[in-house]
Amino acid sequence: MQYGALSTLTQPQGRATCGVDSEVPVGIGVEFAGPVTGTIELVNAASTILARGRLHVIAMLPCDRCLEKRPVELDIVVNEECRLAQVDQPTVEGAEDAEPIPILDADTVDLSELVRQVIAVNIPPRSLCRPDCRGLCPHCGQNRNEGSCSCDEEQVDERWAGLRSLLDQ
Ligand SMILES: [Zn+2]
Ligand SMILES: [Zn+2]
Repeated sequence: MQYGALSTLTQPQGRATCGVDSEVPVGIGVEFAGPVTGTIELVNAASTILARGRLHVIAMLPCDRCLEKRPVELDIVVNEECRLAQVDQPTVEGAEDAEPIPILDADTVDLSELVRQVIAVNIPPRSLCRPDCRGLCPHCGQNRNEGSCSCDEEQVDERWAGLRSLLDQ
């Protein structure tokens, strides 16, 4: 994700528009369906480089209840401070970092760390495949959206057995 915009960005007030259409940078910890696309405009604001724009990507996220993966579209507004410094080894911990994001790889502008951090913080922490997802059976692991298992029947049987013994008394 490299751009030859460095000579422009080192100028005061220099700006560059970067079209994004690339593989999602590694290190986010979830799967993606297809590339990340969008546009990021970089502006030299004296002490930092401001990055503004939008990114679009489809994450394959597991449901919190049934663990089934399904595509979740992320439409991300980018508004970050960056600095013309070397991108080091990417780490997921960097996502919480309030430091301006480095965007330099040798002598080219490299937006991969910016894009990685912006996507990482925009992954929804909890989500369901549908509001009424029935989840997994805690006994046998059956996905209850796809059908019920015999564990349910046994539990019902036990309850009826208890009720029956009460009635018998
Ligand atoms: Zn689910
Ligand atoms: Zn079961």
